[in-house]
Amino acid sequence: AAWEKQVRHSATTRRPNAMIVLVTGAAGFVGSHCSLALKKRGDGVVGLDNFNPYYDPSLKRAREAMLGKHQVMIVEGDLNDTPLLQKLLDVVAFTHILHLAAQAGVRYAMQNPQSYVTANIAGFVNLLEAAKSANPQPAIVWASSSSVYGLNTQNPFSELHRTDQPASLYAATKKAGEEIAHTYNHIYGLSLTGLRFFTVYGPWGRPDMAYFFFTKDILQGKPIQVYETPQGKQVARDFTYIDDVVKGCLGALDTAEKSTGSGGKKRGPAQLRVYNLGNTSPVAVGRLVSILEGLLKTKAKKHVIKMPSNGDVPYTHANVTLAFRDFSYKPTTDLPTGLRKFVKWYLAYYGLHTRVNKETHSSSSFS
Ligand code: NAD
Repeated sequence: AAWEKQVRHSATTRRPNAMIVLVTGAAGFVGSHCSLALKKRGDGVVGLDNFNPYYDPSLKRAREAMLGKHQVMIVEGDLNDTPLLQKLLDVVAFTHILHLAAQAGVRYAMQNPQSYVTANIAGFVNLLEAAKSANPQPAIVWASSSSVYGLNTQNPFSELHRTDQPASLYAATKKAGEEIAHTYNHIYGLSLTGLRFFTVYGPWGRPDMAYFFFTKDILQGKPIQVYETPQGKQVARDFTYIDDVVKGCLGALDTAEKSTGSGGKKRGPAQLRVYNLGNTSPVAVGRLVSILEGLLKTKAKKHVIKMPSNGDVPYTHANVTLAFRDFSYKPTTDLPTGLRKFVKWYLAYYGLHTRVNKETHSSSSFS
């Protein structure tokens, strides 16, 4: 009963026509930012996360503590815990689900293939099963990934390009998610919107991502590896700043049509959409390193090596015309600006007081 009260309190709304959103992966990087943005504008938010140790769980706890200050509760639990999902959907009439929980990371899939299948395929199906039986059915916005473009060499990537050549198991599970979404939309009338994120970075980011561990290693004087393609070309990414991605997620939620089913039965056709959410300007990893060197006022010990065949793709570049048309998505933060905000957060969060960190004591907040 105390648990239910807490969950209901977290779901409280503070504006007319507010949404009530279940955010899965709320202790994660993108999930924590989106949860806070929704709560700040008056929507009801309840988080779900299993706090797995794929990367430093204390960072997930710190994000949870930050959300707690804004009355957002994260229920600790797994996507594959069917009774828990049912209970959550019974206690609160969620209008929307923002599904961001997943096993992320491309290279880790070579050591831990099963964790991708469990979280990204079984977990997604389990969530859709719970959502389809809810009355009314919530509209669902979920994270796909730019990795679905795989070995596609047409640039920039448009939603019409082929996605049948995934280069990693991670990408394959994200692609499977898109196919699974299609079936739940078709059979049960669930409203589903997939967002293909492109290398998201920023404060409270993920320690397993290059910009994050480059920062750490440069500060510690450790060597870093920069990949080039077998043809000697630099690897480049369409780095997208977290605030832009948050705006995209909220835009997708705001324009999501209602599901047309209830209690597991479909009433009519429902919405099914997929969008790129990128920055539209790829940057070579070498350039990323030189921006970091400038911000950290430290030279990197850089080793350029040929990209191993570990699931990474050489190049990503988003075309975001569709997201702009449908919810005015327009990325506004370039890489130097976004990295400055990241580095400021990084130094404050890890309590490093360097020359570039004089005024950053109060900066360990979101946004
Ligand atoms: P993240 O790892 O920080 O967040 C995911 C969260 O989900 C974690 O807190 C984790 O504990 C939780 N989680 C994992 N499996 C779970 C399960 N079975 N049950 C409950 N919780 C579980 O990752 P992120 O960067 O915030 O990514 C969010 C989403 O966006 C993911 O779906 C990811 O695949 C996708 N994505 C991210 C990027 C990026 O650059 N960050 C790019 C493309 C796609």
